[in-house]
Amino acid sequence: MTAALCASARGLKVLLVESTTQVGGTSATSAGTLWIPCGSPLGVNDIAGCREAASTYLQACIGPGADRAKIDALLESGPELLRFLRGRTQVRLESVPHHPDYLQALPGATLGGRAFAPEPFDGRRLGRSFSRVRPPLPEFMVFGGMMVSKTDIPILLSALREPRAFLQAARLVARYARDRLTHARGTRLVMGNALVAQLLDSLLHSDVEIAFDTRVTQVARTASGFGCTLSGAQGERQVRTRKAVVLATGGFSGNPAMRQRWLPAVARGHSVAHAGGTGGGIQLGLSLGGTMDGNHMAPAFWMPVSTMKRTDGSVATFPHIVMDRAKPGLLAVDATGNRFANEADSYHHFCEGMLESNRRTGSERFFLITDVAFVERHGLGLAHPGRRLLRRLARAGYLTRAGSPRELAQHLRLDPGALERTMTRYNELAASGMDVDFHRGESALNQHNGDPTHTPNPCLRPLDTRSLCAVEIHVADLGTSVGLRTDSDARVLDAEGQPIPGVYACGNDMASMMRGAYPGPGATLGPGMTFAWRAVRHLSDC
Ligand SMILES: Cc1cc2nc3c(=O)[nH]c(=O)nc-3n(C[C@H](O)[C@H](O)[C@H](O)COP(=O)(O)OP(=O)(O)OC[C@H]3O[C@@H](n4cnc5c(N)ncnc54)[C@H](O)[C@@H]3O)c2cc1C
Repeated sequence: MTAALCASARGLKVLLVESTTQVGGTSATSAGTLWIPCGSPLGVNDIAGCREAASTYLQACIGPGADRAKIDALLESGPELLRFLRGRTQVRLESVPHHPDYLQALPGATLGGRAFAPEPFDGRRLGRSFSRVRPPLPEFMVFGGMMVSKTDIPILLSALREPRAFLQAARLVARYARDRLTHARGTRLVMGNALVAQLLDSLLHSDVEIAFDTRVTQVARTASGFGCTLSGAQGERQVRTRKAVVLATGGFSGNPAMRQRWLPAVARGHSVAHAGGTGGGIQLGLSLGGTMDGNHMAPAFWMPVSTMKRTDGSVATFPHIVMDRAKPGLLAVDATGNRFANEADSYHHFCEGMLESNRRTGSERFFLITDVAFVERHGLGLAHPGRRLLRRLARAGYLTRAGSPRELAQHLRLDPGALERTMTRYNELAASGMDVDFHRGESALNQHNGDPTHTPNPCLRPLDTRSLCAVEIHVADLGTSVGLRTDSDARVLDAEGQPIPGVYACGNDMASMMRGAYPGPGATLGPGMTFAWRAVRHLSDC
């Protein structure tokens, strides 16, 4: 969508081919944050210093495999993308002043200014096209269709205690109630859904043609460009393109054979990415002579998830991003009954701990353990804050409850002695406010995601072992990192490392410049949209 908008703004004729009936893919169900260093006013005032710090940080994150040209490209063109979006489209992003990078110990890490989040969007502006926006994950909506952002949650939770919060919450709920008289879900969109809706709104204001429910099944080079075979509800048709083909079909999270080829066994069974990302763009790129860039630290970006069968038989997959893991009064154990990672680290780095434990123990079983008071205050996965859902989710087998560590160990099939020792140790550390084992609560990121009202450590408090609650978690991918090898203008490269004229890849079809590192919030959408911008700048100049 970003590439299409850029191309249209440069006067090119664009056909956007979408295999489903809705735009958005994983982007629509994401948090919608873009990690773009030096795009905020702070960065613009000292552009050289800002770029140097960001480059140092990225090289430290990515290590020896870092591609300097791509780092420079992101630092140069990320701010250009932001200016383009603000000046020429309906996309409205705001700089998030305080959002720490994920690897605070590395040189060049910052506490904020590199993350950009979409402003809320009024879906009613899209008219009938509102239904073209892929809805968020059902588990991220309340009352069956109302989106809530990270900033809405404290308002809703304190509504019954604080008059100001009550008024704000009442406004949100009243707006939602009105929406439901005319719409299938709430029209106040936030996070990734707002981003995608803003992109669609921009496309509807442009002359880009969108072919929904259509798939590109073949791309063949011709004397004057490419011949593309499109297959859709109306059957097959041929389209000729003069300039270029930009592949942006979202990677291969939804392709079982590619998952088998690229992902470790423990991570193959679960994904929070859009199932329609079946590697179609990557296959087309390969058919045109492209190659895979698979030598990454991680083949995908990870998120811990818990799952439960919905009443219609489908499976709800809940990503444990920020709402519970870092809050005080929770620990994670592996199949040995021991802690294995700092639970308050980013989703990706916490999952790296799960993968490491899996390599050591061979087991795929992991649990988040907390107490009922924690669930009442912060919620735990599908259990929203409060007591309302506790019994139902326990009956459904999603939550396990127990009156002691030994009883919990029996329910979870863990070594009772080991779990009891782990919890005793955790409670001792928590009481002291210092986690000398895993440093929970020490980094600025941990503290950002913890509970600021809890002292001395916003991520640590002893658990009440007489009322325990646990949920099983798994490693899932939120998107794939391995993809088509490209240069810093997103041109797909052949086996000799030469660009294939007219073939570009962006989003998760392009091998991530991060090579499996996860520097900060928005590390896939920021580069994804920036390299879409660069692809179009390059192809339109050719
Ligand atoms: C819960 C969650 C939160 C996240 N939060 C963030 C975040 O805040 N910031 C961030 O950077 N990343 C985030 N991510 C990851 C991010 O959402 C994805 O990496 C990103 O959306 C991928 O973008 P994309 O354009 O490559 O693919 P998509 O957004 O999936 O778009 C691909 C599109 O191509 C279509 N398509 C697929 N195959 C074909 C075909 N053969 N022909 C035509 N069309 C096709 C799909 O239907 C889809 O519409 C999050 C992920 C999850 C699951």
